[in-house]
Amino acid sequence: MTELNQTDSVIYELIQKETERQENEIELIASENYTSKAVMEAAWSILTNKYSEGYPGKRYYAGQKYIDKIEQIAIDRAKQLFDAEHVNVQPLSGSPANLAVYLGLLKPGDTVLGLSLDQWGHLSHGHPLNFSWLLYDIVPYHLDKETWKIDMEEVEKLALKHKPAMILAWFSAYSQNVDWKKFRTIADKVGAILMADIAHIAWLIAWKILENPVPICDVVTTTTHKTLRGPRWAIIMCKEKYAKQIDRAVFPGVQWWPHENLIAGKAVAFAEALKPEFHNYTKQVIKNAQTLAEWLKLNWFEIVSWWTTNHLMLVDVFSSLWVTGKEAEKALEIVWLSTNKNMIPYDKRKPMDPSWIRLWTPAATTRWMKEQEMKVIANIFTKTLKAVQEVKWYNSNPEDKSDMEIFNEPNLIKKLEELRQEVLELCKKFPIYK
Ligand SMILES: *Cc1c(COP(=O)(O)O)cnc(C)c1O
Repeated sequence: MTELNQTDSVIYELIQKETERQENEIELIASENYTSKAVMEAAWSILTNKYSEGYPGKRYYAGQKYIDKIEQIAIDRAKQLFDAEHVNVQPLSGSPANLAVYLGLLKPGDTVLGLSLDQWGHLSHGHPLNFSWLLYDIVPYHLDKETWKIDMEEVEKLALKHKPAMILAWFSAYSQNVDWKKFRTIADKVGAILMADIAHIAWLIAWKILENPVPICDVVTTTTHKTLRGPRWAIIMCKEKYAKQIDRAVFPGVQWWPHENLIAGKAVAFAEALKPEFHNYTKQVIKNAQTLAEWLKLNWFEIVSWWTTNHLMLVDVFSSLWVTGKEAEKALEIVWLSTNKNMIPYDKRKPMDPSWIRLWTPAATTRWMKEQEMKVIANIFTKTLKAVQEVKWYNSNPEDKSDMEIFNEPNLIKKLEELRQEVLELCKKFPIYK
């Protein structure tokens, strides 16, 4: 990036610093991952110079000879990965993709059955400030109080009662398998469209580690930057009979110019995903998640549903150590383990200060950390939170509230700095961009 350095050294410097930050921290925030240099080259190529409204073979401007080929390749590779009948690769991101599906397949005022937002539904599945809430009648279903699994009996009951036009499946922090076929049976009983949003688990589905909902559902959306490691973007897959409605809803319904440079980046990410070595990656993601969960349990932490069958987990930091989610997130950030605090269904604490920390393993696995490293991460995680607990104990204020003052304690600062060195040592052995 020497040209950038000459033109704009301020931005150049900040990118260098962010690169260093990414290399030297362990990314455990569930939704972040690393794209390859090949994806980045395609995504920021000269393709950004071209306007190409429309679809391959049907564009408004001339000069689309190569653009058409690129977009078609992206479509074909996505079809192959997910066994899809029709694919639209133009949505700018996950939320606009969901917007396009609603716009294409529903009328304003229609009833949609979706997972309750405070139980890991996504914002685009019915947040009061989101279009989905403003335009549609959202009826929430819930997770079982004991098992934290989807209460399929309730889904069925609500479907029969409200006769929704669409049933929406998939969620932002769910660590268990989903019974897609049961969803299909319920949707068929009431004549509803079945939609899945697989933003989190796309890669695991592409490699058939988790059951593929694409042949079962009417329409499926996914982002391409979470487990798929492509550019920040999304795609919609649907049955052929909905193809026209979906394509029209994306363009001109929701957006105009398709960013062909990013579509090229997506095509490259799909090609990478089709290679056998990425099958090994997906298998390792799950092995790592289960190993991490196991070690955390051995260190006396509770895990939501007691187990994970995919790539993420929620860890209770409050009941075992009296450390709140907010304190835990802050302490882990200081040692450069990047995580986020999270509510769980029926959480007794507040959204801004819950008891839980959400973790995932796809990013650490991209830099080829394996089971041995998961054990090290679990131990650093535990030592970090124990250090916080000790200070709280010493100050004899193990209260229910977060106490951010503790981060000024010299003892804690020193201890966290030592743990920070352990993280740094680990990162140095697993560079992301060599
Ligand atoms: C991340 C996510 C999205 C939104 O994707 P953006 O690209 O951030 O708009 C939608 N649905 C689910 C389930 C997600 O996890």
